[in-house]
Amino acid sequence: MSLTFASPTITPTIRSFTFSSRRTNNIVMSAIQPNSASLCPILTKFQNDCATPTPYLRKVADAIVDEMQAGLAVEGEGELDMILTYVDALPSGNEEGLFYALDLGGTNFRVRSVQLGGKEERVIATESEQISIPKELMIGTSEELFGFIATKLASFVAKEKPGRFQLEQGRKREIGFTFSFPVKQTSIDSGTLMKWTKGFHVSGMEGKNVVACLNEAMEVHGLNMRVSALVNDGVGTLAGARYWDEDVMVGVILGTGTNACYVEQKHKIPKLQSKSSSGTTVINTEWGGYSKILPRTVFDQEMDEKSLNPGEHLYEKMISGMYLGEIVRRVLLQMCKTSDLFGQFAPAKLSKPFVLRTEHLCKMQEDNTDDLQNVGSVLYEFLEVETNLNARRRVVEVCDTVVKRGGRLAGAGIVAVLEKIEKDTKRMSSGKRTVVAMDGALYEKYPQYRSYMQDALVELLGHKFASDVVIKHTKDVSGIGAAVLAATNSIY
Ligand code: ADP
Ligand code: MG
Repeated sequence: MSLTFASPTITPTIRSFTFSSRRTNNIVMSAIQPNSASLCPILTKFQNDCATPTPYLRKVADAIVDEMQAGLAVEGEGELDMILTYVDALPSGNEEGLFYALDLGGTNFRVRSVQLGGKEERVIATESEQISIPKELMIGTSEELFGFIATKLASFVAKEKPGRFQLEQGRKREIGFTFSFPVKQTSIDSGTLMKWTKGFHVSGMEGKNVVACLNEAMEVHGLNMRVSALVNDGVGTLAGARYWDEDVMVGVILGTGTNACYVEQKHKIPKLQSKSSSGTTVINTEWGGYSKILPRTVFDQEMDEKSLNPGEHLYEKMISGMYLGEIVRRVLLQMCKTSDLFGQFAPAKLSKPFVLRTEHLCKMQEDNTDDLQNVGSVLYEFLEVETNLNARRRVVEVCDTVVKRGGRLAGAGIVAVLEKIEKDTKRMSSGKRTVVAMDGALYEKYPQYRSYMQDALVELLGHKFASDVVIKHTKDVSGIGAAVLAATNSIY
């Protein structure tokens, strides 16, 4: 169990930038050498097909705004789900008391307790524990999975050290539950599972209220806890960042997958059939589902056809970490077949789907040695192929093409969300600082991707607006965000 005390505040932001200082602070080295123009027709065509000049990116951003509006108008219209999260009240900093967060979204789950001390003290203390989920439970029954989680929660609570806040008689401990699978949210503390993803296939859960499943398991195990807020990681990131900074309007995830959530004016949501249309609420865009205008290549099409969800999430398949390496692999394989990229034959390993990962692309692009030694090592280690300098340069060009397209398209998506906000609030035109909270290892660990994304933002927003936009890397704040949302939505 890790224990962190912080006073007066824990500020989790590790990096942020405004665009005015970008050029000096974010010079990114690239392994591409000048004049390495390839003579490979496949590569040249691929580069052309992937091109995202500013006017094209503008069209993408406008089309995303249109899809956002369509999704807000009528349920099921438009390519973006634009899910109502029922998060109407965002953290103010005044929240007080002991709250919990439970994060389930992959092979681990994480439990966290947070002592919130109000405006002056903020997070007084937080403890967390990460527990890996046994493989068999990922494909077992809901009783087994949630029973396991409840048992681990019970032992976490049992180990808790006494803090400032005591649980009052007759009250339950309240949890913010981050559940990062597709959910149809029905209220702040309920939502039905639409489908399992990421290797989970727990029987009898689809169409069921995931909060009820957890609450029942906690009851069975005699645990005095209840879920007060159900959120996804994007909402958790937005809320967690907002807790420290009231200018946060957007939460973006760029990791294995991608998503964006933002603060919307209720009266701009026609499908929200509620009497109260004043105030704001958080919308989960599920922007990975966008597909209308995109620079798709034959390699994207083939990868999509072989994927678990063909025809879906085409934007996600171009910009998120899960897919960038796989696109590069497919291009390299074709280059081997039609030219002598790696000599006479294609390395056998190159035929293995997902053998090249985004981490490998990043490592190759960071190579500053004259003979691209590190590129050579990665290719040797993962493809078992010896390469000359020319081949290495071409490989880096392919990586750069895919990453440039991904980063720039991600930038266009962020601009779309910012412009949707701007339409209704005129924040930026009145010079108000607007913060995008960002989480995910792709953004965090891939400097070229970040840099391309920033270029697109400046090109599309123009320097005037861009200087009021802050991209803040808020690593792992989603747990705190979920706990604070449990406080905001406390039933007591
Ligand atoms: P998740 O989205 O599953 O919560 P992360 O935010 O940790 O997970 O993102 C993981 C993804 O980030 C990986 O799938 C990979 O694509 C990308 N990634 C991880 N490490 C690196 C790295 N060093 N360089 C570039 N991309 C990375
Ligand atoms: Mg994550």
